Amino acid sequence: MSEFAFELELCAHLETRRDGVLARQLGASVADPGGRILDVLCVEPGPEFDDRVRLTSESIPDAAIESAVGTGRARYWKTAFDCHPDRARSATERACEIGFFEREHRKGRDYVRQVARYPDWYGRIVGIENKPDLGRPGDLEAQLRTDVSLALVDEVILATESYVTRAHLNRIPEEVGVWRVHREDGAPLEIEIVREPTSLPVDEPGIEPLEAHPGRTEIAVVDPDAKARQRRRIAERTYGKGWRTYEFPDCGACDPDDSSGATLPYCEWKGRIVDAGSECGASCGGYDPVSDADTDTDADSVPDSDSDTDPELHSGSALESDADSATAIDLEAERDRRTPWKADPDGKRRQQSGLDQFG
Ligand code: SF4
Repeated sequence: MSEFAFELELCAHLETRRDGVLARQLGASVADPGGRILDVLCVEPGPEFDDRVRLTSESIPDAAIESAVGTGRARYWKTAFDCHPDRARSATERACEIGFFEREHRKGRDYVRQVARYPDWYGRIVGIENKPDLGRPGDLEAQLRTDVSLALVDEVILATESYVTRAHLNRIPEEVGVWRVHREDGAPLEIEIVREPTSLPVDEPGIEPLEAHPGRTEIAVVDPDAKARQRRRIAERTYGKGWRTYEFPDCGACDPDDSSGATLPYCEWKGRIVDAGSECGASCGGYDPVSDADTDTDADSVPDSDSDTDPELHSGSALESDADSATAIDLEAERDRRTPWKADPDGKRRQQSGLDQFG
């Protein structure tokens, strides 16, 4: 049972049934960045979602949003940030590059202003923990207890393929919703709701467990402002990154499958979706190398990186692995086509012509 295949199929299913944007594998801690990674994030649209879509396709760096740079008079970038100058410089450059800031150059100094006010664009955030096989739970209980006590996201859901018993339900916090996911060969994926989630108090202080020692666990009390900032970072990362951050192997056994509405890396040899990064290559018994002539990297499909020191945003590429196909697999175009996210919104184009003016 592959957790990776489960995750991609679940995302493809949710994309067709939920409003807003989805991402995979994002950090959901506050006091210990990277301490907790959530498998799937669903960010629901807020009142100004359309304004966010128009602004830029990329994640906006948090430092740029928090800065004193506004939409009115352009400000000297150095005086507009309350953080280390290197972080401020990097956020300024990235915000200009993605079209959130526009720049004027006066007397050897860069002055910046926001192209548009940062919108109130996201609503509830739902975190999903995937555990296809409850017989191999790993740290599941501790992870879900952390999610509930921190209450960074509005709802937490456990998604599994296993039959869920009363004993399973008793072991996980009662606030956690439970989905049983049915995946039969050739049939559309179905979600059976075993238990509805309870809304978590995202506006109240949260408790984040840090290190566990024999007999005691270090904790951090996380204040609501810190949670709100982290929620905004999660929402931004989700918007910019999306969930199509997987690769297609350069192997003849890969037969990309779009029957779910999203193109997924299906392997004929394994009979399931595969994670090219960890499963494919010469050491695989079914590896059938595709020649360079048959493989075409589609640069447009590689998500742009984010300068907000988030390594998770630097992954993602797609290869044309079907030699008979004249069209490269362009996951970015597919995301543009199938979701509210826009790869090349008007705001970005306006900013680029604005830059020419000062260039
Ligand atoms: S390398 Fe192995 S797992 Fe990957 S697509 Fe080829 S046969 Fe399948």
